[in-house]
Amino acid sequence: MRPIGVFGGTFDPIHYGHLRSAFEMLQALDFEEVRFIPCGDPPHRGVTFANAEQRYRLVECAIDRQEGFVADDRELRRDGPSYTIDTLISLRKEFPERSLGLIIGMDAFLGLPGWHRWDDLLDVAHIVVAHRPGWKAPDIGVLGEMITEYGTHKVDDLHVMTSGRIHIHAVTQLEISSTEIRDLVAAGRDPRFLMPDAVRDEILKTGVYKGD
Ligand code: ATP
Repeated sequence: MRPIGVFGGTFDPIHYGHLRSAFEMLQALDFEEVRFIPCGDPPHRGVTFANAEQRYRLVECAIDRQEGFVADDRELRRDGPSYTIDTLISLRKEFPERSLGLIIGMDAFLGLPGWHRWDDLLDVAHIVVAHRPGWKAPDIGVLGEMITEYGTHKVDDLHVMTSGRIHIHAVTQLEISSTEIRDLVAAGRDPRFLMPDAVRDEILKTGVYKGD
């Protein structure tokens, strides 16, 4: 049974930076699937611009027909702040024997010590960090110690064990941000080629991000 990649985010909106990273992980780490899990109520971010249903719909548009990409709405169905640890525990209940790989960008990884119950994450899943080629991972502080203790270069470890390792994986870095896209749309410009056409069409059709 191959691992399941768990890719959470606000996805406000989802774009090619997210999709390309997830796709490279899916292929290079030989994951069974990558689940895109938009957060319902992001504890770290305050407000989102599109509501949870709209962001989920954009994820659905984005992954349409890509084998191995799955949209997962469990955080929308749960009340209260969307803590990653709760999401992982619910996936663990659903897939007791399966390796789970939490996919996060290096920027998110550097903020990990601020996450709710962050030191429980490795009990439930691996952490797979999408890394900008050529950038250095932290080697000091709590995260440095964590990498020294749990880090692995071997993709096999993510298949053999069901949780507990940190794997840093270089992905093609596309300098696209959701913030930039929202600003562009609010200014009346076309976000084409920053995201799949289906996502762009849905954004333009619904007028989300138009900013009144
Ligand atoms: P914003 O611009 O609103 O901050 P964002 O795109 O950075 O949005 P999220 O949607 O919450 O934020 O990101 C979800 C995950 O995707 C995070 O782990 C983040 O590190 C990663 N990520 C965001 N942008 C990119 C990108 N261009 N390439 C690769 N990974 C990204």
